[in-house]
Amino acid sequence: MSLDGPYDPENIFARILRGEAPAIPVHEDADALAFMDLFPQSRGHVLVIPKADARTILDAEAETLRRLIVVVQRVAAAVRVALLPDGVVVTQFNGRAAGQTVDHLHFHVIPCWQGRPLKGHGHGQMADGDDLRRLARDIAAHLEV
Ligand code: AMP
Repeated sequence: MSLDGPYDPENIFARILRGEAPAIPVHEDADALAFMDLFPQSRGHVLVIPKADARTILDAEAETLRRLIVVVQRVAAAVRVALLPDGVVVTQFNGRAAGQTVDHLHFHVIPCWQGRPLKGHGHGQMADGDDLRRLARDIAAHLEV
């Protein structure tokens, strides 16, 4: 995907937003959805996406970004309290050359622990569904309303 071009409404995150594809949600509000990454770089890896159509940070409306980053912060804080990581990586990729594989804007919230290297971006194995559901419940329980 180049940085320019139309938004593809059939991308997997658009389908998740429409309820056409499954996801394990952590948080949903009028502007954003947070859900567990199916191929996590570490245990507790969450994705945060806007409901508005945007491919990358470059074509997103400023207001979309303003609202989204606050949700990213809240999710990161909840991941911290729920999982007690030593650090939290927040990443975001724009265009294939940068490593973006899903063409709907998203932030990664990835807990990390000393001595436990993260799996590479795009190299995670599919996680166990029951474990993801447990993690989602734990993280959601620590989100401030
Ligand atoms: P990126 O490579 O930055 O575009 O990130 C896309 C992320 O979405 C990767 O971390 C994938 O593991 C994750 N992913 C892809 N498909 C799904 C899905 N159906 N449910 C949850 N996470 C997904």
